Amino acid sequence: MKNIKYIFVTGGVSSSLGKGIISSSLAKLLQARGYSVTIQKLDPYINIDPGTLNPYEHGECFVTDDGAETDLDLGHYERFLNKPTSQANNVTTGKIYQTVINKERRGDYLGKTVQVIPHITDEIKRRIKLLGNKFQYDVVITEIGGTVGDIESLPYIEAVRQLKWEIGSTNTLVIHLTLVPYLAASRELKTKPTQHSVKLLLENGIQPDILVLRTERVLTNEIRSKVARFCNVEIHSVIESIDVSTIYEVPLLMQKEKLDITVLQKLHLPVNEMPQLLEWKEFVDKLKHPQNEVKIGLVGKYVELPDAYKSILESLVHAGAANHCKVKVQMIHSEKINKNNISELLGDLQGIIVAPGFGDRGIEGKILAAQFARENQISFLGICLGMQCAVIEFARNVMNLHDAHSTEMHISTQFPVIDIMQEQKMITDLGGTMRLGAYDCVLNENSKVFKIYGKQKISERHRHRYEFNNQYLTQFEENGMTTAGINPESGLVEIIEIPSHKWFVGVQFHPEYKSRVEEPHPIFIDFVKSAIS
Ligand code: GLN
Repeated sequence: MKNIKYIFVTGGVSSSLGKGIISSSLAKLLQARGYSVTIQKLDPYINIDPGTLNPYEHGECFVTDDGAETDLDLGHYERFLNKPTSQANNVTTGKIYQTVINKERRGDYLGKTVQVIPHITDEIKRRIKLLGNKFQYDVVITEIGGTVGDIESLPYIEAVRQLKWEIGSTNTLVIHLTLVPYLAASRELKTKPTQHSVKLLLENGIQPDILVLRTERVLTNEIRSKVARFCNVEIHSVIESIDVSTIYEVPLLMQKEKLDITVLQKLHLPVNEMPQLLEWKEFVDKLKHPQNEVKIGLVGKYVELPDAYKSILESLVHAGAANHCKVKVQMIHSEKINKNNISELLGDLQGIIVAPGFGDRGIEGKILAAQFARENQISFLGICLGMQCAVIEFARNVMNLHDAHSTEMHISTQFPVIDIMQEQKMITDLGGTMRLGAYDCVLNENSKVFKIYGKQKISERHRHRYEFNNQYLTQFEENGMTTAGINPESGLVEIIEIPSHKWFVGVQFHPEYKSRVEEPHPIFIDFVKSAIS
């Protein structure tokens, strides 16, 4: 049996300090040194998964190949590591309790009182180890959601304490990420919140091994040694994480701070050859020195919260770098678009994306945006609901099916060009019941997407209940909207195109879930390229 090493990343002082990015950056450095690494996220909320959460609550819901609806941090893990994650990479309190309660109902606890300790903590530990044991990774990084001191995260912290004790300090490591605020009035960086946060961890039985300090200003040696002394860590275990213009610079910063070396030494793993990260550096360089600029509009209804479209925004960053170009994304609220203001709102864009989404709110604005792109030869990418809007628009305005709609928004429409899948009709539960995860798609050899992918068979990730209605297929084809990709088993239309348009593609799947730094997604690359030209 392999001796798997476990690294835990906790957060203190404030949320949103970037635990996901620090975890991903460390993982990237260890991967570059030849270790097999994965990252998992433990989320302390009681939902089984974020699939039922409003994006305003928790940002985007990321989807894995095996159809898990997960936290958006898994998107970062995949984008940094260029490796897929799975169901097991995201565990929530809801999942933990569900498992324990199911066991209790089966009678597995043999008459015992079921308690947080040991039953819930045992289940947490089982989940932490599951991933490593199943895939035999060298290192498993576990990011604990929330902030130390939250009531909800207590069982997780306790599980980490127990694991550390059970498998030993050379096999486990706790990295605590905190904030060192800068007080402008006294022109000082303040370490007290970090000291308090470490104290909280100590109260729960955990002495962190490494502290990563998020800061706006460079940490002086004095600050570093003060933190080291008061928090009981070695000076080289105090790591600076200074604000940077792009998250993709963080692995390079962590390398400069020797985070990877400190981690390997503490885990008694060989510090083999220095990672070059050449491809990564080249990417960051292109990102920071673009040769031109392009303006893309992202039309959606969650525009107040950019995290709601995280993967789309990151895919555009990747595609921008691939085209040596800065992609300026203008978020446009679909509810605000109407016939009178549309040219003003969308007129100066070189590309338009209509975003995924659910429900009626803002739908007419999305449909208008698709029409505007079609009629004005503006590069257009419709993703999931965005593709459905393009189909509805085409039916209404080109095929003269005036009442055309999706039955999601208008159940009794005369022309249901988008309709619910047969197997979805009987489903009543909302959680985890959509068409989820990776499905194959066969591309039409005469299509634009065939040239873009450079192959006929692709696999992409889905998250939807409604579909292009094949009853209208010939009518669409005859009028100039063609099917460019079909699911080989079900015959479902996965991609539509308008060949007479400069660049007009709608995809029923989510290409944004598969764009990575080292493998930017071809659809986004080509979309940005066409927008530039
Ligand atoms: N609401 C649409 C459906 O369920 C689209 C979903 C999406 O955009 N992810 O089919």
